[in-house]
Amino acid sequence: MQPVKSNQQIFSAFSWQEIDTVLLDLDGTLLDKYFDDFFWEEFVPETFAKKNHIEMGTAKKKLLSTYKKVENTLEWTDLDYWSEELSLNIPMLKREISHLIALRPQAIEFLEYLREIKKPAYLVTNAHPKTLKLKLGKIDIEKYFTEIFCAKEVGTAKEQPEFWSMLKELLPFNRNRTLFVDDTEKVLQSARSYGLGHLIHIAQPSSRTPPAFSNNFTSILNFQELMTL
Ligand SMILES: [Mg+2]
Repeated sequence: MQPVKSNQQIFSAFSWQEIDTVLLDLDGTLLDKYFDDFFWEEFVPETFAKKNHIEMGTAKKKLLSTYKKVENTLEWTDLDYWSEELSLNIPMLKREISHLIALRPQAIEFLEYLREIKKPAYLVTNAHPKTLKLKLGKIDIEKYFTEIFCAKEVGTAKEQPEFWSMLKELLPFNRNRTLFVDDTEKVLQSARSYGLGHLIHIAQPSSRTPPAFSNNFTSILNFQELMTL
């Protein structure tokens, strides 16, 4: 679900002393979501249109409705599923535009900061292992994480409320003393329904779209806002 556009920023401050564990999303949080948006909304439709000799507009329409059917599920992030569904080599196409994979502003500073204040950081992502491999091969951030959890390994997508109890089987965290940062409201809602104590929304996941603060969560434009608490 797209966050409702708002000019009003919600910010409820917390103290780092209240936090033991930091869970971080990848796409749209640490990495610029422009890569993913461009890939699925432009590059895949363009390739699909060429391959099937149809108009770009027709391809876009068809693909968007195909995407919608598996929204918030593991299939959505499964490259093999899409390769088969669209008869395209999706991992190869991702590699073709991998020069667009980029960090969000201050992501490294924030990861360095967490290391400095000795808060273990865990990457918790819906990204498919193949996408993750490509991205972490391109952007050197793996070293900042105590551990990495892919939704595929956990067994369901982060949007599903049961994701969090499944994650807890793999990573014993105290939900009241955990901070989780993500750019997707639906994911934050599922984390809230599980009772995760501290939730942060990223208001500008893509460098190419204007900021949109959440109406429901503490919403930040840049990580600096968390580094001065
Ligand atoms: Mg995200």
